[in-house]
Amino acid sequence: MLVSMLEILEKAKKGGYGVLAPNVFNEDSVRVCLEAAVELDSPIIIDVLPNNHKDLVSFGHIIRQMADEVRVPVALNLDHGDSYEACVKAIYGGFTGIMVDRAALSFEENAKEVAYFKKICEPLGITVEAEFGQIADGCDYAEKREEYLTDPDKAAEFVKLSGCDCLAVSIGEAHGEYTNGAPDIDFERLEELKAKVDVPLVFHGGSFSGFDNIAKCCQIGCQKVNMGTDAYNYGLQMLFEDGRYQAGENIGARMAGDIMWAGYKERTMDYMRVTGSVGKNWIKIED
Ligand SMILES: [Zn+2]
Repeated sequence: MLVSMLEILEKAKKGGYGVLAPNVFNEDSVRVCLEAAVELDSPIIIDVLPNNHKDLVSFGHIIRQMADEVRVPVALNLDHGDSYEACVKAIYGGFTGIMVDRAALSFEENAKEVAYFKKICEPLGITVEAEFGQIADGCDYAEKREEYLTDPDKAAEFVKLSGCDCLAVSIGEAHGEYTNGAPDIDFERLEELKAKVDVPLVFHGGSFSGFDNIAKCCQIGCQKVNMGTDAYNYGLQMLFEDGRYQAGENIGARMAGDIMWAGYKERTMDYMRVTGSVGKNWIKIED
């Protein structure tokens, strides 16, 4: 059942757990994510990057329909909406959350642009995610980690000024694979952020950040965990390791897809288990 992202995040905040937000890019990836959520009786946030689908509006409507067919809470969020066009398309496509990603701008400009979309989204019941501090990429982790960390006092001020519903924070995580240094998560900073910032907090770059680290962040106070690369890679690995594929057999695109998406699903379920959301489905199943 489709719900607003804020409803999922507020319940997670109250219950002291996190909810996984896997990146998807086609109907197959959405389907296995929803299957994973149903099998683990868990809420889920479907995250769509603007460049991961050529038609955000149509894709949004497809996901809405798929979400309404399952009896777990599903939010549909635009991940890293870094352009005006992407945010508007997501709103028109029926997304129940948008991330207005302006973290590379100044404090004031970032807050101003988030506030602009908040004004549009609030009457529509659409949740607005912002980012303050910046999340590094795995390849420039060693150089950027320190510079990008979120300042807790400024973050509290940013939330008041922008009116964002939830906030992505930089606490030593990075997007994608860590090719330059291992994840060094600043749990004390997260504790401070939790104490000073009222809105739910978002952990970006869940892939390869370590199951123990993610579990601890969710216990301390992260309510949304983004993850994509690890599940994609794992799905591909399953395909490449398949005996028929290795033997050079032409297994066909459909079977290749089935193997890959089964791997993607398995990895997604591993991450869902560590966030603590298993069994947190609040939608009652009617007989
Ligand atoms: Zn991200």
